[in-house]
Amino acid sequence: MSRQPPRGRTATLACGGVAEYEASDLVPTVGGIVPCRKHGHCPVVLPHRTDVGVRERAVVTRQRRSQAELVAYLEGRGTATLRALRGERFSLRLIAEAERAGHVHVDLLAGVVTFRTAARSGRAAQYKASPAA
Ligand SMILES: [Zn+2]
Repeated sequence: MSRQPPRGRTATLACGGVAEYEASDLVPTVGGIVPCRKHGHCPVVLPHRTDVGVRERAVVTRQRRSQAELVAYLEGRGTATLRALRGERFSLRLIAEAERAGHVHVDLLAGVVTFRTAARSGRAAQYKASPAA
């Protein structure tokens, strides 16, 4: 029996774990809750549906960033998308660690990472009641 290496049909979880799938159709979307070997169930932060993951991996591993750099980056902006952070070479594992440490809040459904102190203000303003005319 020969073992085939995974061909990019994986999903990176918020805890840093990786779930593998036999078909790209089975790979969940961002925010989907999937079984996790360590925690029972964890939300997906980075689904890989096709083999584009191979090229992405080369970019991500180019240079590692520290949690202090992530905090400094978000402190200046207040909020950033997961896509933008990955573009800045911040790994999802690093972002998950920063959330556990209480530095940032990760909104998986929106794909947005918010600096903790900024997350406290303005939350209610997003939900303005629009009275029916
Ligand atoms: Zn997990």
